[in-house]
Amino acid sequence: MIRVSGLSKAFGANHVLRDVSFEVAQGEVVCLIGPSGSGKSTVLRCINGLETHDAGEIEVEGVKVSAATLPAIRARLAMVFQRFNLFPHRTVIENVTEGPIHAQKRDPAEARREAQALLERVGLGDKADAYPAKLSGGQQQRVGIARALAMKPDAILFDEPTSALDPERVGEVLRIMRDLAAEGMTMVIVTHEMDFAREVADRVLFMDGGRIVEAGPARQLLTDPQHPRTREFLERVL
Ligand code: ADP
Ligand code: MG
Repeated sequence: MIRVSGLSKAFGANHVLRDVSFEVAQGEVVCLIGPSGSGKSTVLRCINGLETHDAGEIEVEGVKVSAATLPAIRARLAMVFQRFNLFPHRTVIENVTEGPIHAQKRDPAEARREAQALLERVGLGDKADAYPAKLSGGQQQRVGIARALAMKPDAILFDEPTSALDPERVGEVLRIMRDLAAEGMTMVIVTHEMDFAREVADRVLFMDGGRIVEAGPARQLLTDPQHPRTREFLERVL
């Protein structure tokens, strides 16, 4: 579903991605781990075209990511951010229906019905008319996930969806992601939640210094890493 090959990117003299290649199959959950500054967010941002790349190629469902194909690709790939990025002056349900109504030109009444069902699914059926500021971080992130699902994406990219949350709010967001994985949603997840990665990911990619240093089945990479840098990183975070 997603193929990244030979991806390289520099910000000025800072080479943040060096020859990054990986594939994500339909229904697969891939977790991207690694130290801060290793290039994880930049990989996600290149995949959905929030960032341009200098070399290499990205294909989503066989379509090469370029300026011309970006609108079509963004319609297939949703992204969930660390800082929720909800519109503060719109209600929860308006946040969820924004994409379907304005970007996808769907029928507003139908979009609202579906949004209400999605809010119920993430446990926020009673918050449709609330403003984001009235919600906890965990609730806001659940709205963020409902908003992503409202676009009926083929895959979802998550960039540290729980890193900005109070510890007691992390579980409620991971639970929803676990359910999505069980339903077969294709997901690429940047995370520091190693227990979650071990349990939910099919594969884990460890990045350091703009490279994928090691990739493998989640359980194997997280319990028996082969590369010394992976080992050192895991010893620090576990
Ligand atoms: P990670 O998500 O793994 O913490 P990032 O992909 O955010 O890493 O960043 C990788 C490197 O790219 C860092 O050195 C960061 O400072 C740099 N970087 C990221 N975005 C920009 C930008 N828009 N302009 C300049 N440098 C950036
Ligand atoms: Mg990041």
